[in-house]
Amino acid sequence: MHEVLDHGYVKLITHSGGDLSVVDSARISYNAHAQRDGLSDADIGLINYLMKHRHGTPFEHNMFTFLVKAPIFVFREWHRHRIASINEMSGRYTELGEDFYIPYHPDVRVRVGKPGAYTYAPASIQVAITYRDRLRWCCEEGYARYKEALHDDIAPELARLFLHVNHYSEMYWTVNSRSLMNFLSLRNHPTAQWEIAQYAQALEDIFKEQMFHTYNAFVDNGRVAP
Ligand SMILES: Cc1cc2nc3c(=O)[nH]c(=O)nc-3n(C[C@H](O)[C@H](O)[C@H](O)COP(=O)(O)OP(=O)(O)OC[C@H]3O[C@@H](n4cnc5c(N)ncnc54)[C@H](O)[C@@H]3O)c2cc1C
Repeated sequence: MHEVLDHGYVKLITHSGGDLSVVDSARISYNAHAQRDGLSDADIGLINYLMKHRHGTPFEHNMFTFLVKAPIFVFREWHRHRIASINEMSGRYTELGEDFYIPYHPDVRVRVGKPGAYTYAPASIQVAITYRDRLRWCCEEGYARYKEALHDDIAPELARLFLHVNHYSEMYWTVNSRSLMNFLSLRNHPTAQWEIAQYAQALEDIFKEQMFHTYNAFVDNGRVAP
């Protein structure tokens, strides 16, 4: 399990396919596919060729299923990636736990610069402390009101309106490597919001472990999804 932010994580549940599925599915064009135990240099070269020339479909014959716990505002960005299967915890059917994201001091940042050319810098300690204290107070207040509403038999789907977008949720997320590389290309990138980039980095570490040669070809060819 890869821990992310203060209460989140990414956990690989299942993986099928792998580098060999890329090679075999590509070689069926020549009726030359064959199940083998390992990859030859020619196989690795083929993976690189496919990536470089953006022959994307051979990268679809594999599957990753992840269990992810992340703040709702991270999922809001994540769920824009349509080429995936998603099932998420329901605030209508379950009582939500008291987990909300409070950035650690060094991760509290201020925006610097002009529109279109923003950069970010760490907030001063005093500004960060004030921000964290106020945010925690709002979240604890909101959660207390949520619990009261549930106690008053308010429907959970309305009780949850007291909660905030930094409240943690959980989902199953299933993708193939082509879609995963598209996600990593966009979200493990300096222009992505820092919080979702932390999740993308965890996914990238798992991707590298499971599909080493595909991962290397992705990086060597400019981190562009094929
Ligand atoms: C830094 C950043 C800032 C962003 N800011 C905004 C913003 O301000 N507002 C906003 O609304 N969104 C914003 N987004 C979200 C962005 O527009 C995409 O919705 C999101 O990144 C998903 O990318 P995707 O469509 O490539 O992924 P997926 O939906 O997973 O699609 C993968 C690929 O499949 C193909 N595809 C999927 N669906 C279609 C389709 N209908 N037609 C044709 N091809 C398709 C495309 O090739 C696509 O790249 C931002 C994203 C990033 C990374």
